[in-house]
Amino acid sequence: MGIEEKLPAGFLLTTVEQIAGYMRKSSVWPATFGLACCAIEMMAVGTPDYDIARFGMERFSATPRQADLMIVAGRVSQKMAPVVRQVYDQMPEPKWVISMGVCASSGGMFNNYAIVQGVDHIIPVDVYLPGCPPRPQMLLNAILELHDQIQNSKLGVNRVHAARAAEKAALEATPTHAMKGLLA
Ligand code: SF4
Repeated sequence: MGIEEKLPAGFLLTTVEQIAGYMRKSSVWPATFGLACCAIEMMAVGTPDYDIARFGMERFSATPRQADLMIVAGRVSQKMAPVVRQVYDQMPEPKWVISMGVCASSGGMFNNYAIVQGVDHIIPVDVYLPGCPPRPQMLLNAILELHDQIQNSKLGVNRVHAARAAEKAALEATPTHAMKGLLA
């Protein structure tokens, strides 16, 4: 049964934003980029067992100029931080970032001066992926989450309004140093 049999009158209505979102999410190319142990799990999603090719993403780009997704897989050292930022800056817009693993997201167990305590100190992050290391299935789930975000992303003046709303929400959020743990 084809989609034309399900539609009542043989036509389909959508918006330019929805079409653009669908095209974008179906053609994401990750940058070839790994920092530590999490990168091994990231590489696993390219194998037939996990098959990232089903999303059209098996082409990890060797140049940031032909990539629009950065998967930060592993801890970010202070020495590496400017390089991460440079690679990010070289990627064309629109671009997205997945912070893979607890080290990339918050420094993890490396609570010391050598490691950046969260890659969001140097680049904006769209999806945070917990775990040490996250399994390849978890990375696939993060990619699906990112697909949802891309599908529903705004264009033009709507994009400006969405960016302002996100910035306002971030400024009003509880700072991490004021958050209480489960035992507080
Ligand atoms: S989260 Fe765990 S697996 Fe990933 S880089 Fe840190 S220590 Fe390695």
